[in-house]
Amino acid sequence: MNKQQLRAIPNTQRLLEQEAIAALSQKYFRDEVVSALRSQLEFVREQILTNPDYVVPDFFDDCFADVVEKEIKNGKERSLKLVINATGIILHTNLGRAPMAEYAIDAAREAALGYSNLEFNLASGKRGSRYMHIEDLLKKITGAEAAVVVNNCAAAVLVSLNTLSIGKELLVSRGELIEIGGGFRMPDVIAATGAIMKEVGTTNKTRISDFENAITEDTRVILRNHCSNFKVVGFTESPALKELVELAHSKGIYMVDDLGSGSLIDLTQFGVSGERTVQQIVCDGVDAVMFSGDKLLGGPQAGIIVGKAGVIAAIKKNPLLRAMRIDKISLAVLEATLGLYLFPKLALSRIPVLRMISEDKSSVQKRAKTLLKKLAKQESIKVCLEDGTSFIGGGSAPMNELETCVIKIESEVFSVEKIARTLRNHRPAVIGRISDNAFVIDLRTVLPEQTKFITKALGSLG
Ligand SMILES: *Cc1c(COP(=O)(O)O)cnc(C)c1O
Repeated sequence: MNKQQLRAIPNTQRLLEQEAIAALSQKYFRDEVVSALRSQLEFVREQILTNPDYVVPDFFDDCFADVVEKEIKNGKERSLKLVINATGIILHTNLGRAPMAEYAIDAAREAALGYSNLEFNLASGKRGSRYMHIEDLLKKITGAEAAVVVNNCAAAVLVSLNTLSIGKELLVSRGELIEIGGGFRMPDVIAATGAIMKEVGTTNKTRISDFENAITEDTRVILRNHCSNFKVVGFTESPALKELVELAHSKGIYMVDDLGSGSLIDLTQFGVSGERTVQQIVCDGVDAVMFSGDKLLGGPQAGIIVGKAGVIAAIKKNPLLRAMRIDKISLAVLEATLGLYLFPKLALSRIPVLRMISEDKSSVQKRAKTLLKKLAKQESIKVCLEDGTSFIGGGSAPMNELETCVIKIESEVFSVEKIARTLRNHRPAVIGRISDNAFVIDLRTVLPEQTKFITKALGSLG
């Protein structure tokens, strides 16, 4: 019986001539079709040998071609893929932080497809620096004397502190010895820079005198860390940045600020408080301030350092810089994104992160209503609108919440876990939140053209 079934399996060549499978060769590379076909036939062979209940398919039926096509598609699916972020968390590190501006992607495409003047000075015909493409922009936007970029803010912190305080003392408040996501623990980072960390003050209160009393001949840097992902409330005290700068400069040492997120636009107008802009920090006179490219800036993964000309020049000479240099694609996206900031209105309308932060609740609500109408047709789920909260996230403005309007989805047929799993397994995957045993969708973080995928994904529940 087995032998007969095995013998009945047609050879690959014959199957490739079958109409539906031949059609696949028009749609995909022939090699992809052959490979998928072989693996399907291998599967059939194995089933015949091991599974007595197996029903051998009709190889010349279109259904078999469909199975082969599915196999091709699975083989083609990339591991890194589009996900619809319906969590309402704008800078979601696990979901890739900031989506980028389309305008900036055009620049990346151009830089990626051809050659570029990455390190070539077109005017002189001589070697140039990759930093020349963004330094003037950063100076203009932030008001700083000089700027340099590396591949992320963690690297920016590392190279700055290594340059300024290797083998020397660095002062930091006990209230700022933070751990941010991904195991970036400040004391370990400082140790890795080669600086000798001296903690001052206490967890909740650190005064300017604590720094003053700790300064010795060996002190080179006062470091301030932005407490990106938590807040100490109650009896707290920490010196103003300006005071720290004055103290540092009166003692001939450097004031360095690890800002983390680094907004270039005042976000208080959108109800985001407690985040000072990079421009304000620069204005206070810091020697160097570091911030991320893919947090509030809304650009690519990058670490930006702006500050005093002498300090930036020293950082540029540090051999470590070469090991953390920014790649041309990120540089292209960063330059184009920064270009939008020359005209803040343009930045607000073109940069997705800023659009999401500045969208009114009523606007999210309007979009949610439109989607709700579509979802209401689906009998297996119950949907309604509710007031909710969006978060900036990504270790930025930790306590900052934005009022929003969410779609709440419940079902008597499917568990909330089943809904979440089905949406994750859909392509593109849709990620929402689970709250009070309901599945919740916040459209604030869903780009308008992506809403249709939510309808489709929920439709796949049945
Ligand atoms: C996020 C953050 C960093 C790290 O930035 P990456 O760009 O993710 O490397 C460093 N310091 C602070 C205060 C941060 O918030």
